[in-house]
Amino acid sequence: MRGFVLNTIRVRDEDLIVRILTKNEVLTLYRFYGARHSYINVGYLIDFVVEESPKATIKRLRNVTQLPFSFLFDLEKMLNFKIFITLLNKHLSDVTKIDDFYYNLLLEITNDLKNRDSKRLLIESYVKLLEKEGRLHKEFECFLCERKIEGKVALARAFLPAHERCIYEKGFEREKIKELFENKKTLLFSDKEIDKLWKIMNLGF
Ligand SMILES: [Zn+2]
Repeated sequence: MRGFVLNTIRVRDEDLIVRILTKNEVLTLYRFYGARHSYINVGYLIDFVVEESPKATIKRLRNVTQLPFSFLFDLEKMLNFKIFITLLNKHLSDVTKIDDFYYNLLLEITNDLKNRDSKRLLIESYVKLLEKEGRLHKEFECFLCERKIEGKVALARAFLPAHERCIYEKGFEREKIKELFENKKTLLFSDKEIDKLWKIMNLGF
């Protein structure tokens, strides 16, 4: 099987509990001597075998090979990708069966990261995720006062649109948010604005 490592928890001295996103499942598996094998890191795409163990309630993770990314040695890209994965892991905390959208989204990201600015690509991917989950609000109605937003659009957690005065935050130009929400493109934003969007995304999926 193939999957992205969402999280690892060290148990006992050298064992790991590993959470993996595959095409249609989120698996929680037990890896003996996992701490000795440096390749099980969060964000990595791995090839592996699931072994049933009749006595244990948790299945075993065996024969792990890491599939290398082209951006693996770009520290900033790798770090931002891991931040995205960690946010995704929290978001999927209760999930076991899953739509292949999530696996495919991560595959797409890992294919594109080499040639793209990581924050821009990950913000665009996050907006795709919001749309897939029916949580992307393109109508620009303030989530707090429920009135229409004229002019600048401020964004709260999960990119919820609001009036600047309602959430005490500076807004973004409407056209830029429109381009992001409708076409999933960040090209109109300055790097400073991208940092601001990145911070909002980091409040949680
Ligand atoms: Zn409002």
